[in-house]
Amino acid sequence: MTDAKVYAVIHKTDAERAAAPDSEQAQYRPADLPDGGLNIAHEAVDRHVADGYGEQIAIRWLGRDGGRAEISYAQLALDAARFANVLNTHGLVRGDRLFALMGRVPALYAAALGTLKAGLSFTPMFAAFGPEPIRSRMEIGSASVLLTTAALYRRKIADWRHELPGLKRVLIIGEDVPEDCVGLDAAMVGAADDFATVPTRADEMALLHFTSGTTGKPKGAVHVHGAVVAHAETGRIALDLHPGDVYWCTADPGWVTGTSYGIISPLVNRTTMIVDEAEFDLERWYGILEREKVQVWYTAPTAIRMMMRAGKAAAQGYDFSALRFLSSVGEPLNAECVIWAMEVFGKPFHDNWWQTETGGIMIANTPAMDIKPGSMGKPLPGITAAVVETEGQTLRKLDAGEIGELALRAGWPSMMRAYLHEEQRYAKCFVDGWYLTGDLALRDRDGYYWFVGRADDLIKSSGHLIGPFEVESALIEHDAVAEAAVVGIPDETAGEVVKAYVTLNAGYSADEALERDIRGHARKRLGSAVAPREIVFRHSLPKTRSGKIMRRLLRARELGLPEGDISTLESDDA
Ligand code: AMP
Repeated sequence: MTDAKVYAVIHKTDAERAAAPDSEQAQYRPADLPDGGLNIAHEAVDRHVADGYGEQIAIRWLGRDGGRAEISYAQLALDAARFANVLNTHGLVRGDRLFALMGRVPALYAAALGTLKAGLSFTPMFAAFGPEPIRSRMEIGSASVLLTTAALYRRKIADWRHELPGLKRVLIIGEDVPEDCVGLDAAMVGAADDFATVPTRADEMALLHFTSGTTGKPKGAVHVHGAVVAHAETGRIALDLHPGDVYWCTADPGWVTGTSYGIISPLVNRTTMIVDEAEFDLERWYGILEREKVQVWYTAPTAIRMMMRAGKAAAQGYDFSALRFLSSVGEPLNAECVIWAMEVFGKPFHDNWWQTETGGIMIANTPAMDIKPGSMGKPLPGITAAVVETEGQTLRKLDAGEIGELALRAGWPSMMRAYLHEEQRYAKCFVDGWYLTGDLALRDRDGYYWFVGRADDLIKSSGHLIGPFEVESALIEHDAVAEAAVVGIPDETAGEVVKAYVTLNAGYSADEALERDIRGHARKRLGSAVAPREIVFRHSLPKTRSGKIMRRLLRARELGLPEGDISTLESDDA
């Protein structure tokens, strides 16, 4: 590892520190339902209505074509209750499993809450999934009911629907209702307004999220209603969510971030959340930040790098003064991005780390902390993290500065409780009471964690251990480079050598001189043992629908190896 601390620490002022949420004391106390029940939907909406906040706007929806809707907490509670009644009327009850396949429209949010209220579990899928990823997820998850649109149903599901015998109903949003399906709009009109929330147990399944393995089928991570305590507290401490804040999480609910922090946490913390139906568009996004006076913004490095690629000039003329807290998740956040945000928004991005399996944020740069650009921060209160080395069932904690696997002491409220039907795969994640994340990291002497790479992505070259993130971050410091992905290629002498794939900023042409220049920059910055031997220019990099660069796919294609599970692959020209 080269010294990553080349960027100055961003110090918080005393005033910023004083205004930061109190993280010493967990504050969240869920309301008790009858029989000691705990239900996410009750915490997210009904509770606020009971407390007199029914008039507050819960969702400010921005339609793709300029439409707009505001949904109050009272309206959301009512829609959720009606949806729960529709489910019961159609024989769908506690323990059944609802899958949703649709875009970010208000009905999706009411349905998510109504599903949980009725004691069913909720699984959102990306609307852009093709038939195969949809089918495999619904099969593994034993879907009882699907919520979708007529167009998506006809295009992606109708052909094989009857091969899933457990699928009792398909609910359709919109007026056009295919045969064998239930029209939701009409059913909602006829549904009763009251629904007694099912008093689910804290350890009862609430959410099922799929995550791609490097090989084989996607894994279904099971999350429980009790996770809401973590959603509430981490939203408050790591994202600085306050009641009444205007908050925008740009993630789709099809990715765990869009559910934990795009539905549950913001509602439980009683914010007004922006839901944008459209995909990334630079002017649209800057316009939303300005016009909607977004105060807290949670986005991902891919989007941030796209903004950077457009240049600082593109951000000029917008008023971002409402922004109070910026945060990022999903991929390592290059130091460059943190610094860039200071210049463009006047505030740094706060990186945080978590994964589908952890259900909520585990490591973060909180509002109270000084930021070391490039670091993902420190474990949140209540989370014990370590960098470890394991051999069989023995686990050894490593010292500051040593690279190893990031591990978390098991037992936090939003921890996954199973990989559905895969007990062994689940058991393998735990050693001696620790959950092994599959990510490599190091902890510095101040307790900050630095991401090195997925364990599968680590490169071993001439005895050096090289984390792709470090090399990629150095590459994007070059003016021409927009994004970079680095993989290890077998080499007779070195074991492996580093190969980089990069996309370029506007105004640069991919030629040999530029390749030499970027390699020279990387050598100067990283040393010749770590710098890429070869750089390939690409128009885009292969990414998952949640914006993660698929390094293993680049490597597999390079070496002619099996591509593994690529069901979440978005688009690429690799
Ligand atoms: P997912 O379960 O799809 O959200 O993916 C989780 C994985 O994304 C983690 O195990 C990391 O490899 C990566 N990841 C998430 N957040 C960060 C971050 N802040 N820095 C580096 N990698 C991250």
